[in-house]
Amino acid sequence: MPEIIVIGGGVIGLSSALALQQRGHSARLITRELPQETTSAAAGAIWAGGGLDGRMRRWADDSLTRFLTLCQVPDSGVTLQRIQDFRRHYPGAMSLPWFASRLAHCQRIPADELPGGFAAGLWLDVPIVAPPRYLQHLHGQFLAAGGILEVRQVDSLDDLLDDADLVVNCSGVGARKLADDPAVHPIRGQTLLVDAQIDKGFMDESAFTYLFPRGDGALLGGTQRTDDWRREPDEGESADILARCAAIEEAVNSANVLRVRVGLRPGRHAVRLDVERRTNGRIIHNYGHGGIGFTLSWGCALEVARLANAKPPSPPPPTGQGEASPQDFV
Ligand SMILES: Cc1cc2nc3c(=O)[nH]c(=O)nc-3n(C[C@H](O)[C@H](O)[C@H](O)COP(=O)(O)OP(=O)(O)OC[C@H]3O[C@@H](n4cnc5c(N)ncnc54)[C@H](O)[C@@H]3O)c2cc1C
Repeated sequence: MPEIIVIGGGVIGLSSALALQQRGHSARLITRELPQETTSAAAGAIWAGGGLDGRMRRWADDSLTRFLTLCQVPDSGVTLQRIQDFRRHYPGAMSLPWFASRLAHCQRIPADELPGGFAAGLWLDVPIVAPPRYLQHLHGQFLAAGGILEVRQVDSLDDLLDDADLVVNCSGVGARKLADDPAVHPIRGQTLLVDAQIDKGFMDESAFTYLFPRGDGALLGGTQRTDDWRREPDEGESADILARCAAIEEAVNSANVLRVRVGLRPGRHAVRLDVERRTNGRIIHNYGHGGIGFTLSWGCALEVARLANAKPPSPPPPTGQGEASPQDFV
């Protein structure tokens, strides 16, 4: 089979490249940054499929299946963790999420066990990804399957179509320029790795505060700043994250900060996962996953592999009637 070029070395590009290899394609991955320098490396990263429907739910569901399997694989960077997920405002009794039956443990926290200020909460056993290790795992699998990783900037999708029949665009926030898509914008986020040992995770969505246990410490977050392109850590934000997390978990008070990371979530009103046909070949776009790229990653990768294998439609009739639009290839 001819080679496929995948752009992007974050979780979306690496997962897509692997899914293509598993369908028998040979893949070359071109990325401006190494996987450990991407936005993906800065993420939490919890599987967070609540509130999704339609194809997003299907992608999240497929990813959950994958992550539950990866929890059994040593050194994959994916582990099952017990998390408390709190809401400050919740009308009535908290309903169980659509994926409750897929988890070994998912139950409401009784009202008399809720900390002050919270209206509802859940206990969940859910997959948590340690992105540096998981990206290394994906990268290793990609190379082991014969993949080639090239570090360079791509300035034109058309230029790549001279070398490959199919290009898969997983450029995250870079798609704003590369795909000329003004709907893509950065949502800057900052996380801290500290050397505290904690035995359960905590999430307060309304305050955007979370603590996740990891083999190498605890991951603390977070921040969410729309249209902020800065990639350097902000000391004020680090202090604010530490203060918020210390108010929840005593061990944070005496912890040392091991690493601060910043990522630019690829914000968009919806994920773009479709096929665009150009005169010299096809492009599958897979970008705009916002704050749930890990949650959707494997489901989207399987969809990319399915689209890559889908037969292109026959050429339009000579009259020019019935010409297909890009959506027809999806
Ligand atoms: C602080 C934080 C916490 C998060 N927490 C979670 C979480 O708990 N759960 C969850 O599911 N998600 C979470 N996310 C979101 C998740 O990290 C993103 O949705 C995901 O990383 C996006 O992956 P990506 O591969 O599309 O983008 P990226 O990781 O940014 O990768 C894009 C790749 O494209 C390359 N690229 C771009 N332009 C070009 C070009 N012109 N030429 C060559 N290469 C190019 C880049 O170099 C990079 O390799 C979080 C994000 C942040 C920042």
